[in-house]
Amino acid sequence: MWKQLLKLRDTAKQYLSCRICDGKSCSFWFDNWTPFGDLYSFLGATEHQRLGLPLDSTVAKARTRDGWIFRGGRTDNVELFLSHLAEVEINDEARDCFLCASPNGNPKERFILAETWKLFRPPNPVVPWHNQVWFIGSIPKHSFIMWLGCLDRLPTLSRLRNWGIMEDDTCFVCDIYFETRVHLFLRCPYSFDLWRWYFTRLQQHFIGFNTSDRFLAWLKSPTIEAHSDTLRLIAAHAVVYAIWHERNARIFKGIRTPVEGLFPLLDRGIRNSCSARRHIPKFKDLLQLWFQGAPF
Ligand SMILES: [Zn+2]
Repeated sequence: MWKQLLKLRDTAKQYLSCRICDGKSCSFWFDNWTPFGDLYSFLGATEHQRLGLPLDSTVAKARTRDGWIFRGGRTDNVELFLSHLAEVEINDEARDCFLCASPNGNPKERFILAETWKLFRPPNPVVPWHNQVWFIGSIPKHSFIMWLGCLDRLPTLSRLRNWGIMEDDTCFVCDIYFETRVHLFLRCPYSFDLWRWYFTRLQQHFIGFNTSDRFLAWLKSPTIEAHSDTLRLIAAHAVVYAIWHERNARIFKGIRTPVEGLFPLLDRGIRNSCSARRHIPKFKDLLQLWFQGAPF
């Protein structure tokens, strides 16, 4: 593990700089104390011999009472560096200060992991459906499949065919249409029956979804009762997960569950989810709400 961390030194070095004061703790060749990065890389691996300054020298070692010990340079980079040195002020009364880069461009004396992570991996723009995928009380494995589905990252047969991995992308659930994301989750006859059941249980008129955008927009639209939003989401997640699970069971295990057999399993799963989360305010009356849509 330590070897792996040491391999990241070059990456980490670009986020660490040194504000020169007395120059006694800053490495002349390897610390980042000029705008050019470390001088060993900028000036060249052999320049320390010409300047007569060993590789373990500090910045303080490069100075005498009369100033910097360098004279004119042979390369453009050395000339550039020497012209910068004229602007560097040494303060023997204070110690060098090592600074960590921050996203706003002002290096800080304190290392903050969250800010360094933002520099290392800039955040992507916030997607409009994040609250419909990740919310308090959501079931992680359901949210995960929902998230991959929203990003269109699930390995549907049509995607595998486009990658040249599969030749036939006929849907394993209906054996009729191509298995695209929209078909599998929204338009496949099997999924269609599941969504019809879902809307019945929510006591709402059935709406067919032609695109994933319409589906997500519907999930986001407000309902009359705020807590039924949560029921709508938790049940939709369960349906999406059940479709993906059924599809995989058919492909990899050869097990086919008729859609009528899935209704009681989904019902029990959603009841258990609501019951287990009844301590969360948004889930307080959800079980009762779910029972209201149950057939007698
Ligand atoms: Zn299908």
